[in-house]
This record gives sequence, C-alpha cells and structure tokens, in this order.
Amino acid sequence: MGYHTAMPPRNVTLRPKGLQWYMTGHAWIYREDVANTGGARSGDIVSVSDARGRRLGSAFYGGASKIALRLLTRGEAVADDRLLADRLAEAIERRRPSMEEGGAARLVYSEGDFLPGLVADIYDGYVVLQALIPAVDARLGLFANACADILRPRGIVCRNDASSRALEGLPLEKKMLAGEQPGPVEVAEGPVRYLADLWNGHKTGAYLDQRDNRPAAARYARGRVLDCFAYQGHFALHCARRAETVTAVESSAEAVAVIGRNCALNELANVEAVEGNAFDLLRRAHRERRRFDMIVLDPPPLARKRAHAADALRGYKEINLRAMHILAEGGVLATFCCSHGIPRDLFLEVLRRAAADARCGFRVMEELRQAADHPVLLHVPETAYLKGFVLRKT
Ligand code: SAH
Repeated sequence: MGYHTAMPPRNVTLRPKGLQWYMTGHAWIYREDVANTGGARSGDIVSVSDARGRRLGSAFYGGASKIALRLLTRGEAVADDRLLADRLAEAIERRRPSMEEGGAARLVYSEGDFLPGLVADIYDGYVVLQALIPAVDARLGLFANACADILRPRGIVCRNDASSRALEGLPLEKKMLAGEQPGPVEVAEGPVRYLADLWNGHKTGAYLDQRDNRPAAARYARGRVLDCFAYQGHFALHCARRAETVTAVESSAEAVAVIGRNCALNELANVEAVEGNAFDLLRRAHRERRRFDMIVLDPPPLARKRAHAADALRGYKEINLRAMHILAEGGVLATFCCSHGIPRDLFLEVLRRAAADARCGFRVMEELRQAADHPVLLHVPETAYLKGFVLRKT
C-alpha cells in the first residue's frame, strides 16, 4: 500500500450545450454535452468547467450511464467526503420533526437532498441504503458510518438490487452493512401497522412515496372499496377502517399473502385479497355491472421511458375509464401515475378523456403528490414523479 496523497480532482469540460443545461439550474449533464472528461474515472468527484476554463462547480462522474455528471456544488465550493456526510446529517435533521415513532420515512431522496444517487430509508430503527450510481456505490461505507453515528440503527440493509444500477454499470446485490438480517419489520403508519420485508420487498420494503396519500384517500372510504395494484394492501388497510368491505387486487402472490397477514395485524376482517390482473378484474366488473363506492388505482409505472409514453397513456386511460364506469354515483376515484415520462398535465388530460368516454362528470376533490420526504427541486423536474387526483363522480 502506498501513501494516499490528496490528488487534485480531475477536470471535466462541458460543451456549450452542457453549459446551457447548467445555466438552467439543472443538476445533470449528459455525456453528449461533455467535451473532455480529463481522465476522470467512474465514481470520481470531479471539478467541472466551461470551454474557457471557468470553474462551474463539482460533480459525481459516472462512466457508463447517459448522465455523465451529477452536480454537487456550483461555483467555487469544493465537494469532498466531509460535505457529503454533512448533507446526509442535514437531510436526516430536516425529517426529525415529522418522523413517526415506530414508523417509516425516506431520509435521503437523491437529488432532492443534494445527494444524487443515494436513497436512504428508515423502518422502525432499521436503515435501508440504496446506491444508484458509481460515486455513491464507492462511498457506501461513508454513508453507512454516518447513518450509524446519527441514528444508532438496529441494522443497515443495503438494497443494491435496483434495476437502474445496470445502466450505471453496477452489479445488482443485497447485503447487510451492520447488524443481522431482519425478518419482517412491523411499521406504524398513522392508525395502521404493516409488515415490511426490507430484504425481499419491493423498493426498500414499501412504497413510502404514498405514505401521506393513503390516509388522505382513506378519508373518502365508505361502502364497497376496490384497491387496484394493492401490493401488500397499504391503501386497503387504511380504507378498511371506514368501509364495509375492501377488495384488494394484486398480481404478485407473495404480496397477496402479506395482505392477509397485515389485516390480521390490524384485526381487520373486511378485506378480500385477490391475486390477479387488475386490468382483467376491472373489465370483468364492468361486464358484470358491479358497483363500488370508492376505487384506488395505483399502477406500477406503465411508462418507464419517455419512448413508451404512448402505450402507457392507453393503459392509464383504460384502467381509469373502467374504474369510472363501475363507480357508483357520488363515488370517489383516487387515481395515481408514477411514470416519470408522463407529466401532471398529460395525466390530467388522460383522466379528462376517460371521463368523456365514460360520459360522466367528476369534481376534483384533491390533488396529491409524493410524500414531503421525497423533496422536489424546482429546477430538476425529474425529482417530481408521483401525480394523484381524488375525483368524485357527480
Ligand atoms: N398501492 C401500493 C403500491 C402499488 S405498486 C401501496 O400503496 O403500497 C404497484 C403494484 O402493482 C405492485 O405491487 C405490482 O406487483 C402490482 N401489479 C403490477 N401489474 C399488475 C397488474 N396487471 N394487476 C395487478 N397488480 C399488478
């Protein structure tokens, strides 16, 4: 082992187009907008300059993905491991006032917390980390140590199995960074408790972005409720406390099994969990003229890429149209879209067209979005992705 000498960071030079992006306030620079990488290696913190050599800031450099640079600082401010650890601590402190005892929260939301490529969640004392880019992957130990110091967690799970890692040239893997691998963790969410499997569950164990929207939507629950794309029944649990019956539809057999366990945990006996395709169930319910007083539609991203947006729009229109048909008069539709490629206004237009085809009117009761611990940056539109509307049939 040689001595570690502090090397000055390599310098990446932007093309004029890259400078334009920088000037908009965005946090990303695409590879095609880089003139010269200056020998930067994937995972480096680099300094960034324009064609005339003027320093623009510092950034994480990634060698594989279309996004070459993720800005950390603008102007002269230098980025180093100290700055990253400070940002992690600040992100956690910002959440403290609203953290629920025994609950779950997103501690770090990547760009939204000026820590691009890092996701950190907490579930009743267990931390889950996800490194989405090489520079964060290389510093996972730093982030795990900082979390351990600040939070004294029961364990730290590393869920580096997000498929987007492949685009960054990173392997998919899971490991424990501290403590023993936990079994299902019991998590509080307002009046409801659920089991989160931090090792095998979707995302880091649960869809935390919908955390505030579940109780918000459940305020409208009554009579017969249909929860489509239910995962482990989190909307269903909240709704079942007010409704007569809830039907929860989910295609994953593992998730459906957990719906039953979650109902038992909450002593709820009015939820029917159905393993199946929500598209088919909605079609069949329409044919059979079934009626529901409330319907939740929370599909997976039907468009993962902008190029798939047209197909996805057909999918969103179909499920919303069918749900509108089978909604009772005065019934409520809570409908969501988490596709990055479909902006809010386009989703709203799909809902308008579906309502026109269904020949019914709706009043917009509420507009919903991702939980506040997934903060949105004004100049990075990609940080806002979850759109939701609560509509009442008039
Ligand atoms: N509403 C859930 C999150 C839903 S995520 C919550 O609040 O936790 C989308 C879910 O839809 C995933 O669990 C996925 O397994 C399921 N899914 C995907 N395609 C489906 C289909 N065609 N029919 C029913 N469920 C589907």
